[in-house]
Amino acid sequence: MPEATERPVRVRYAPSPTGDPHVGNIRQAIWSWLYARHTGGQFYVRLEDTDQSRSVPGSLERILESLRWLGIDWDEGPDIGGPYGPYTQSERLPLYREAADRLLAGDYAYRCFCTTEELAAMRERQKAEGTLPGYWGVCRDLDAGVVAERAQRGDPHVVRFKMPREGTTTFNDLLRGDITVENRTLDDMVILKSDQFPTYALAHPVDDHAMQTSHVTRGEEWLPSAPRHVRIWDALGYPRPTFVHMPVILGADGGKLSKRHGAKFVLEYAEEGYLPDALFNFLTILGWALDDHTEIFSHERLIEVFELNDISVNPATFDQQKLEWMNGVYVREHTPEDELAEMFARRLERELPPDVPRPIDRSLVEEFAPLIRERVRLLSEVTDLVDFFFQPEVTPPPAEIFLQKRWKDDAEGAASALDEAAKALDRLDDTGEWAHEAIEAVLRDLADRLELKPGDLFTLCRLAVTGKRITPPLFETMDIVGVGPTVERLRNAASMLRETASAGAR
Ligand code: GLU
Repeated sequence: MPEATERPVRVRYAPSPTGDPHVGNIRQAIWSWLYARHTGGQFYVRLEDTDQSRSVPGSLERILESLRWLGIDWDEGPDIGGPYGPYTQSERLPLYREAADRLLAGDYAYRCFCTTEELAAMRERQKAEGTLPGYWGVCRDLDAGVVAERAQRGDPHVVRFKMPREGTTTFNDLLRGDITVENRTLDDMVILKSDQFPTYALAHPVDDHAMQTSHVTRGEEWLPSAPRHVRIWDALGYPRPTFVHMPVILGADGGKLSKRHGAKFVLEYAEEGYLPDALFNFLTILGWALDDHTEIFSHERLIEVFELNDISVNPATFDQQKLEWMNGVYVREHTPEDELAEMFARRLERELPPDVPRPIDRSLVEEFAPLIRERVRLLSEVTDLVDFFFQPEVTPPPAEIFLQKRWKDDAEGAASALDEAAKALDRLDDTGEWAHEAIEAVLRDLADRLELKPGDLFTLCRLAVTGKRITPPLFETMDIVGVGPTVERLRNAASMLRETASAGAR
């Protein structure tokens, strides 16, 4: 039989449909996919739904959508089929039964009739006596006649694999090398449940063999049971695949990453305004490195350089701040302008108030996109930063927001500065020069004339024109808003300030 490593590369992502995939789980898909694409091999998806009690409806769709959003494609899968289908385990039950029968016939497995109560009592005893947990029960040595009779009668039972009791088992993990365990520590695990569904221990060798998986890439949580799994692979006569147990991801407090550390489902990141390429990059380098300094990689570059061997067995720590930073880097530097405008537009379509006509003005988005990319880390910040561009009128913020620092107790001064600005800009338009350089020159000139610090004047103008303290750069913003609305907003704010002042005086 060929050595596993000589086979063409075929790797898989084999999620169970227990809900949305979280980031730790999806990183396995990313790494496996990169390896397949790096080697020119294949990547497929298999749905492991043999534990029907844990199935959550809609999971498969969410899983596939998460992959798609990240830019991961698959060559075969439950939705598209392929030469080794079906790719959903519950549709492959006869194959597992046939394998279980083969193991029973070869005396590699036996039927176990122990009841839940008996198993619970066994566990209690093991706890009390401090002995090895697991199944060390009587059914392994039941008389063949009794077994046949009870099975015939339809007594509920499971099928257990008969682990060797002496010697050792050695298997190889690509990242860790050979691992050897004493066989006396391996208990007889269930391979076929009483409902005739297989457990993972039986289903995955049957499928990974049939589907020609070269590398079983899976989470480290499977490492403890791997020695028992390889016994099953061997008993079925299948050449062993290369095992790659991928390290866990830790939260900031050193515990296994979970919701409580702020880790989210993949599609929640999408919702919150992360870019798929940024999350993909971030997760790829969480536990994998090319060298000691490179952090930003395009998909193409990763496909070029990614090797499973470079995965670290030490658990990596999830750093939320770094993810946000990286997202900002992607927004600023690694997204073509038209794609970025498209992302902004999609978000604005969804989030702008309903009175803004749809579809929203795309050319407007293209105009301000270059101005805000420097200031945005998450797409979810966009709408609040630019909504005023889409509104015909802006309600100025309350007077006390204007009347701070230089303008404290000087509503009249602020109002007349705004009126002067309106006048100067209106005049500018008459000369046909409405452009951000000219706007800036006019306002600086005005500040000079009024003996104001430029910043004190600009703050008033910014609040008046946008309604906000934090906005895209002021002169470019006015340029895009246009002379009419700019002048009107400056005047509105001025009259609002005067009204407030006179109301206060009364
Ligand atoms: N269904 C298993 C899980 O979701 C997959 C393990 C594997 O990849 O073999 O943990």
